[in-house]
Amino acid sequence: MSIVRLEKKDLPLIIENIEKNGGDASQLRAIIEGATVKYHLGTTVNEIVDDDYVEMMLQKSPVEEGIDLECMVCHSQTTTLISGVCKECFRTWALSTKKS
Ligand SMILES: [Zn+2]
Repeated sequence: MSIVRLEKKDLPLIIENIEKNGGDASQLRAIIEGATVKYHLGTTVNEIVDDDYVEMMLQKSPVEEGIDLECMVCHSQTTTLISGVCKECFRTWALSTKKS
């Protein structure tokens, strides 16, 4: 599987190609409107959108940096807390809010 890093500027062309072939490019369009684009061809579209969603939630959340911070959820030591939890727990939480 080849991995290609795409630039945001490439997306309109990709969307055009998808739609010309009768595909659904609405999620790619959402990426253009929303977030920075850095993804691999070959991953599922859901993963791409998940990452964008987490990134979006992260930007809206208070971030605390320091030493010996503790995640409220998994109690691991970390140097970055987002809304009181570590990055992994934040991601899990963010994705759980997306599905509800
Ligand atoms: Zn955690």
